[in-house]
Amino acid sequence: MTQATDLIRDLERLLGREKVLTDGLRVAEYRGIAWGPAVSKVAMRWPLGSPVAVVIPSSTEDVVSIVGMARSAGVPMVPYGAGTGVQAGAAPLAGSMVIDLSQMTQISSISREDRLVRVGPGMLLGALDARASELGLMVGHDPWSQPIASVGGAVSTNGVGYLAGKYGSMGEQVLGLEVVLSTGEVIDIRAVPKASTGPQLRNVFIGAEGTLGIITRVDLRLFPIPEQRTLAGYWFSCFEDGLHAVVEMADIHLRPAMIDYEEDTTQVKPLLGRLVDTPSEMYFAFDGFKEEVAAQAARTDEICRRRGGRPMAASEAQRFWDTRHEPAERYVAQKQIGTPRWSDHWRSSTYLNVTLPVAGIAAFRTRAARGLEHHRLAVVASGLWGIPELFSFRLEHQEPDREDAQAQLDQGADDALRLVHELGGSMEYCHGVGVRLSHLMPAELGAGLDVLRRLKRALDPAWLLNPGKLGL
Ligand SMILES: Cc1cc2nc3c(=O)[nH]c(=O)nc-3n(C[C@H](O)[C@H](O)[C@H](O)COP(=O)(O)OP(=O)(O)OC[C@H]3O[C@@H](n4cnc5c(N)ncnc54)[C@H](O)[C@@H]3O)c2cc1C
Repeated sequence: MTQATDLIRDLERLLGREKVLTDGLRVAEYRGIAWGPAVSKVAMRWPLGSPVAVVIPSSTEDVVSIVGMARSAGVPMVPYGAGTGVQAGAAPLAGSMVIDLSQMTQISSISREDRLVRVGPGMLLGALDARASELGLMVGHDPWSQPIASVGGAVSTNGVGYLAGKYGSMGEQVLGLEVVLSTGEVIDIRAVPKASTGPQLRNVFIGAEGTLGIITRVDLRLFPIPEQRTLAGYWFSCFEDGLHAVVEMADIHLRPAMIDYEEDTTQVKPLLGRLVDTPSEMYFAFDGFKEEVAAQAARTDEICRRRGGRPMAASEAQRFWDTRHEPAERYVAQKQIGTPRWSDHWRSSTYLNVTLPVAGIAAFRTRAARGLEHHRLAVVASGLWGIPELFSFRLEHQEPDREDAQAQLDQGADDALRLVHELGGSMEYCHGVGVRLSHLMPAELGAGLDVLRRLKRALDPAWLLNPGKLGL
């Protein structure tokens, strides 16, 4: 009997046959990337490929046993949430074991008074929010993918959602964690909002993309459903006007729960080599007690109008809010028939989400537009999310039918991200690195990458937890 067969038999004995998937078709459903192929630009010791099995634990004890078996067999492990990540962090490695945490959805406690929930990593964000709402609470992390992404996946990528302006990224809402290391040790990080007892261990696992430990429980800060939520929207005739408004608001620490700003690309045709003034739409949500919300909305209105903003009808802002998760709903519907909407576009267009110093945003846009002309790429759909530093844009190939369009897009995206580094920014603010950006980790972290590698060696001595992801 081969080692793999032995391993599968032992896993079946532990979990039951229905929780150990080896059938090709079922296993192939675990792509670990929402759209496009999982591709690494650097050689990986464990290349991307088919796993030996997908296992579905129900408890921390199951995870500890699975990890022990994988370690003894020298098999790499890929923690898997809901598989909606876009950087292939959960993409299977050849000969690996995928650990699907989707059944660990238990809420072991939820407290109105402490505004805290203790939840399994597999719970979907939308389902958790629905449960919290029964107590007058809400989850502060509200990404486009809220109905379909798991708590553990969102912590592991340190995602950002619509309400990050007030409530922070997913990682900022985590108070405690339970983590299983590849050595089989279980770390219980206590759920306290503040401690001055050394560096906070939870931060080691937030954004670690399953490379340092498997998160088996999350203690998440919940927030009261606001006494008042007011929505507003403004049109600006070009991106810069709205940028100035948002920067002025940040200067007086006026922080709406939501700032969602994006150029409306349906109205203007992009030009290669230079930026085109494009009408842009900005949406706000103000959360809080009544007086606070009224004051925030009034001051925002004054700033936006003075900066050239034209207010939208209240129904427009409401429509934006009500439809904010539609991309996820469309994604699910299209996946069911096998063609996620983006599957046609990934070859000729890519969306990048970077962090830039505010003073560098205008320079970045101009330099990127000029620098990418020779790749036939235009910079379109500039946007801001939550705070002015979180800047998103799309690179769009202007001759998508060319044979080398995808190669030019890849090269152009790397050039743009290197420019972000040059301007002091970070190449991704919400989706993580996975394998798609791992080749740029040396540029992003410098000597810090060696420190991360030493940390990994300490926590995962056999280098079996999601090896190759995050550049580790
Ligand atoms: C339509 C659509 C819209 C999206 N919108 C947003 C958005 O607005 N904001 C945003 O931030 N992202 C967005 N995403 C990306 C994605 O939804 C997020 O990255 C999400 O947080 C991933 O969660 P998941 O459960 O699918 O994780 P997966 O894709 O399964 O995994 C992501 C990473 O986390 C690791 N991991 C998962 N669970 C665990 C665990 N328990 N322990 C350790 N490691 C683990 C995996 O190994 C992998 O490296 C969107 C995706 C889609 C398809």
